[in-house]
Amino acid sequence: MLLEVNDLHVSYGAIRALKGIFCQVGEGEIVALIGANGAGKTTTLRTISGLIRPQSGTITYKGQPITKMPPHQIVSLGICQVPEGRRVFTRMTVLENLEMGAYTRKDKANVKADIEKVFQRFPRLAERKSQLAGTLSGGEQQMLAMGRALMSRPTVLLMDEPSMGLAPMLVQEIFSIIKEINQAGTTILLVEQNAHMALSIANRAYVLETGEIVLSGPARDLANNPEVQKAYLGE
Ligand code: ATP
Repeated sequence: MLLEVNDLHVSYGAIRALKGIFCQVGEGEIVALIGANGAGKTTTLRTISGLIRPQSGTITYKGQPITKMPPHQIVSLGICQVPEGRRVFTRMTVLENLEMGAYTRKDKANVKADIEKVFQRFPRLAERKSQLAGTLSGGEQQMLAMGRALMSRPTVLLMDEPSMGLAPMLVQEIFSIIKEINQAGTTILLVEQNAHMALSIANRAYVLETGEIVLSGPARDLANNPEVQKAYLGE
């Protein structure tokens, strides 16, 4: 396994947000983490990224423990998060945001070529490269956040609710881009409230309820599971 999370416990003061989370992500997979508001999805990703310190539990990447590493070191290893709500640098241009995405890289010579690749994948960003990121639409900001993450040449992309706040047509577009990024070789751990979309592109999925994994399996099986259908798919 590329990434393994074992028995992760995280508290915010008296609030126990994660109570023994486990998950595995294999090379080349799209793995989805689905669950309702407050289930602990964002906390799980932020803990993997090193932004939150767990009370206990382990996270290993390529067999190496990363649980106590600082975030920049985790990025350098190839794990990069696309945060919820986009969080682009609003006062910087599109191009500057992409350059920031490459800050941990040592091979500066290839950065220009990678920016061109991002522009090929997201033509709307190319048209707006000198525009301030804060003036982009929600969908464009999501694209920029994804492009910025790709600039670190990640092995694993941690995506937090890429569909949030987007119109249905844009959600389709964003998900097909996620699929393309995966097919080009990037492993993806995807957190989503839109279980329908997440299960449609994932290989495997985990269902999170109040800080615990209650179900897991192949995405197709979960999509056909009556409990999942009732609770998360509105069927
Ligand atoms: P959403 O889909 O609404 O973002 P989520 O599944 O990502 O939800 P988390 O954001 O991980 O859930 O939150 C898990 C729990 O931890 C919630 O009960 C939340 O209120 C709590 N929590 C999250 N961040 C903090 C914080 N900084 N301080 C205190 N409690 C927090």
